[in-house]
Amino acid sequence: MPLNIEKQMKAQLSDDILNALKLCSQTADEHDFKIYLIGGIVRDLILKRKSIDIDITVEGDAIKFCHILAQKDCCKIIQVQNDLKTAKAVFNGGVEIDFASTRQEFYPHRGHLPVVVKIGCSLQEDVYRRDFTINALAMSLNKKNYGDVIDYTGGIKDLNNKKIRVLHNNSFNEDPSRILRALKFAARFNFQRDKHTKALQEKYINTQMHDDISWTRIKSELKQCFSLNSAKVYDMFVANENYKLIYGQKPEIKGLEIKTLIDKYNPYHVWLVYLGTILSNKKIIEHFCFTRSEKKIFTDIEYLVNNHLSMMNSNYDVYKFFEKKSTESILVYYLLTQRKEALKYLENLSLIRVELKGDEIKALGIENGREIGRILKEILKKKLNGSIINKNDEIEFVRNKIK
Ligand code: ATP
Repeated sequence: MPLNIEKQMKAQLSDDILNALKLCSQTADEHDFKIYLIGGIVRDLILKRKSIDIDITVEGDAIKFCHILAQKDCCKIIQVQNDLKTAKAVFNGGVEIDFASTRQEFYPHRGHLPVVVKIGCSLQEDVYRRDFTINALAMSLNKKNYGDVIDYTGGIKDLNNKKIRVLHNNSFNEDPSRILRALKFAARFNFQRDKHTKALQEKYINTQMHDDISWTRIKSELKQCFSLNSAKVYDMFVANENYKLIYGQKPEIKGLEIKTLIDKYNPYHVWLVYLGTILSNKKIIEHFCFTRSEKKIFTDIEYLVNNHLSMMNSNYDVYKFFEKKSTESILVYYLLTQRKEALKYLENLSLIRVELKGDEIKALGIENGREIGRILKEILKKKLNGSIINKNDEIEFVRNKIK
């Protein structure tokens, strides 16, 4: 008897979602389609965890199926991708569902994106393109066996045993980003990689590495892993030697130290503080196609690490050293060098500003632009060492200068 999870669905999914799934189910039966919930949502239902994405796979043409649903006013199609025959639709209550046609994929070049060899294949052929057994589970949505879990790869057993297992020996060669997916799921569910999967991963990391791979996938998975702001993920990333994937050196830092700083200083790009402690290979940084603000973090890290902050520095020197550098890069600099000035800058010095504006200094009687610049610098120095506190002090300083 297959495992049936209709009860779990009723317990875990909202009425709007259940109604949307029922509409899909009825339509599939009326028009002779076989459709299934697939991947993460089935895994999460069995684990009794909340799932965010709802994915349905259609044995056949998912776009055609969606058009039938839309014609019956069950949903609105909001996105269609013709080459893969996928579609996204929104149902009552704002429920969004991704529909994919079953497909078979093939990796002509190791580590690159796959090419689709067949669309509308059997469900069994579709699940074998997936990453782990726990993500290769499907649940029938047709009335005859509504809620039955279809498990071609032993995913239910692995869920019960808390194991992450690849579907075949070539899995990491095909797509090394799966190494990071394994890390994400291991941390999220407190699962372990099974022995064989661990060995395949170690073999890939220690013998098969090549930088001609899909960095888009690696970047996306790194972002997901490190955005969790989890000390455990970072420590596992280091312990499993995953840093070798991005040609990093083994860091001596503990995840908890990074997390504590992040929680205190709230940088915008949390994931890049973790990544910044590991990623320094210029070629790989280029591969990541970072956005401008992301790129600045790595340029700043490089500047801070490669330029000297002398031991006998005044507050002004410290201020100038870190001025205009991103919080993320200052945190990484601190983690790599343990220079306390970095935290002093973030906590105190960065908040200090000269309040007088150039025009106001002019109004006080100093005309020369250069002289104004010099005075602003002097005021800043004095504010940084505490001999000028507020705007009145600044005005008095300028008046004394004039005298
Ligand atoms: P999450 O809860 O993080 O969204 P998920 O399993 O739903 O987890 P997705 O990235 O949304 O993850 O992927 C949906 C499904 O697509 C997965 O469950 C898996 O079956 C398949 N999949 C995703 N990425 C890969 C990959 N790199 N290689 C093989 N299959 C993948």
